[in-house]
Amino acid sequence: MDILIRNAILQDGTVTDIGIEDGCITAIQPEITSAAKLELDANGQLAILAFVNGHLHACKSFWREPLDKLELARNFDFTNMAARFGAISDVKRLYTVEEVATRAEKSILLAVRHGTCAIRLFADVDSDAGLRALEGLLNVREKYRDVLTVQVVAFPQNGVFRARASTESLLRQALEMNIDAIGGIPWLEPSEESQKAHVDLILELAKKHDLDAHFVLDDTEDPTSRSTEYVAARTIELGLQTRVHGTQANALAYYDDAHADRVIRLVKESGMTIFSNAHVALVTTNLRHQPAPRGMTRVFELQAAGVPVATAQDDIDNPYYPFGRNDLLEVAQYMAHLGQFTWGDEINRVLEMVTSIPAKVMRLENYGLSLGCKANILILNAKNWRDAIQFQPEKSFVIVNGKLVSRAVRHQEFFGLGTL
Ligand SMILES: [Zn+2]
Repeated sequence: MDILIRNAILQDGTVTDIGIEDGCITAIQPEITSAAKLELDANGQLAILAFVNGHLHACKSFWREPLDKLELARNFDFTNMAARFGAISDVKRLYTVEEVATRAEKSILLAVRHGTCAIRLFADVDSDAGLRALEGLLNVREKYRDVLTVQVVAFPQNGVFRARASTESLLRQALEMNIDAIGGIPWLEPSEESQKAHVDLILELAKKHDLDAHFVLDDTEDPTSRSTEYVAARTIELGLQTRVHGTQANALAYYDDAHADRVIRLVKESGMTIFSNAHVALVTTNLRHQPAPRGMTRVFELQAAGVPVATAQDDIDNPYYPFGRNDLLEVAQYMAHLGQFTWGDEINRVLEMVTSIPAKVMRLENYGLSLGCKANILILNAKNWRDAIQFQPEKSFVIVNGKLVSRAVRHQEFFGLGTL
């Protein structure tokens, strides 16, 4: 046996040992007697599946580093949304393959440290970034191939039709670069016709190249933004069910109930999973009005209709979101608050949103915490998931594909105050 984890608590409260060999869970029972090359004492801490992050704009993460190289950085007004989005264009023109990879590696190490076993990275493909962001992220995927699952999505962040010739031809080149999925962002296009043409183009390319498609959908408070239903309808018409997924769909919250209900039923029929990364939508815009928007889709109604809903980090230190440590325990806490998953069993639904649901989107094989599954295990210094959300504890051991990839050593002392 390669690794033996002693005295872990599972979600259902049972205490168990977990044996790992050749990357897989080969025993899960109390008091395993076999010897192991490495023995880890969980000491009554919680064992859960390692996290899956299905959406991260890794090429733009930590954008202040390249931003600092620009003249405009000195007096930059970060509070001005238009200035931020304008500056990211300048930053992207500075991209080199190596520079993008270096910043993305920071995100990967943070992911590992915080217990992530699989991550989907979005690379901007447009006239500013060219194919350099994509190449940088593909290099990172290659470098970490034996550590964790990295997937790379070619993503036309600026839309396709504002600069059609260049973005479309870049996307077509990207499809020859062994990418894992193609992205889209139809709601950004200037007209309803071009939004539909955007969806049609991406789905046609996905189908032709036998790839999944991952769209950013209606990330706006505008109730006339209707790309989610068009993506769902075309997915059904083209027979691409379960091959297409979406992020945000925030306008759904602004439709009247009857229309929202119709869209939710279409989304269900399309087999889409919706990623709701509400912590980002909450702070992206400068819209300051009352009631303050939460920036999230109808998570409860989607779930009630049987639509899988996930949540992901999405952004780290970029024009859309200023924070982020690539920690899905932190993201889960945001979802618990913004989505009101706060009492009883509701809290456990957030765990699925950062584990099994995004794992299905990424088609992870043998992902589970049972005999024969790949050993992707996170030992959290908590007794249960509710406590983990509350206390945001350290990730004591991170095991990915059967290997210990990270361990936390943290020591806190109180003076004359007893212990926690
Ligand atoms: Zn995003």
